[in-house]
Amino acid sequence: MPLVIITGFPTSGKTHRAKQLEAYFLKRISSLTNTHPAASFRVHLISDHTLGISRTVYNLESKDAHERSNNASEKDARASIYAAVKRVLSNKDIVILDHANYIKGWRYQLYCEAKAVRTPHCVVHIGTAVDRARSVSEQRLAASGEVPEEDKAYTSECWENLVYRYEEPNAFTRWDSPLFTVVWEDEQPDYEGIWDALVGSEAEGGKKTVRQNQATVMKASTSEDYLYELDKTTQAILNKILEWSKDHPGEGGGEVSVAEGDEKLAIELPANPVGLPALQRLRRQYISLQRKNAVPVPRIRASFVGYLNDSFQSA
Ligand code: ADP
Ligand code: MG
Repeated sequence: MPLVIITGFPTSGKTHRAKQLEAYFLKRISSLTNTHPAASFRVHLISDHTLGISRTVYNLESKDAHERSNNASEKDARASIYAAVKRVLSNKDIVILDHANYIKGWRYQLYCEAKAVRTPHCVVHIGTAVDRARSVSEQRLAASGEVPEEDKAYTSECWENLVYRYEEPNAFTRWDSPLFTVVWEDEQPDYEGIWDALVGSEAEGGKKTVRQNQATVMKASTSEDYLYELDKTTQAILNKILEWSKDHPGEGGGEVSVAEGDEKLAIELPANPVGLPALQRLRRQYISLQRKNAVPVPRIRASFVGYLNDSFQSA
């Protein structure tokens, strides 16, 4: 089951790209000669829609705090998706998973599933800018009349919440690579690249082999555990800033304490309020710096706070 994991914001164009890929795969497979290993491949498109999962499973506002923290309906939805993916799992089936796949740990799980049956996988990130995706969502909300289920809108709270919770793919982790990013303006995803990643290039005779272990052994500093810590710690700090911003809407400046234990740490916000995209950008920059020069795990917090303060000061 070569597995294509689509990921992106709500209304970013995931279904659009998934359908493009499906059409491409079908066409490409039918053009192969009978002797080609991929000539008998089947293509499966799995989505919330094909499984009858409603958008409302992502709503949080109607739930109490406990339910929110381990969002049960969403977990059930993921369990159905997992089962559906597993059901068609084979090395002769291409599975396109059209779903937000916004949780890193969940993408990791899918990657392990592909690995377990020794079949390739790749991640296709629908890199639509947040403002564009939001305007698509607003158009859908404003549209009146009957629309197909697949084109129904998310409530705007739910939409914002999904964006807020979104965990960007990182090409330096094994589970998010190979990573193909497609932006709104692109006519189509990188068909050739994706095909080669899943099936193998012509030079490979269409026989992609999945090694049990990566040939290039990762350095300790880029191990999954380290990246996980890096990710978690820096995201927790962004969350503190975002919480503070919610309590001080539109306010510039300010000091956000991120003290833990005896360690007194604070972030000095710049005079102009910083938005989530800018914060995420800084976070990504910081993370990519750590690949060259990794700080030890216990120092990540302080080091990231220092990095933010420097960036804000020079802004
Ligand atoms: P998602 O599955 O992520 O919710 P859809 O694929 O349903 O998003 O796309 C939302 C809307 O935006 C649809 O009307 C779709 O036709 C349109 N759309 C998506 N991607 C593009 C694009 N790259 N260019 C133009 N329109 C697009
Ligand atoms: Mg969709």
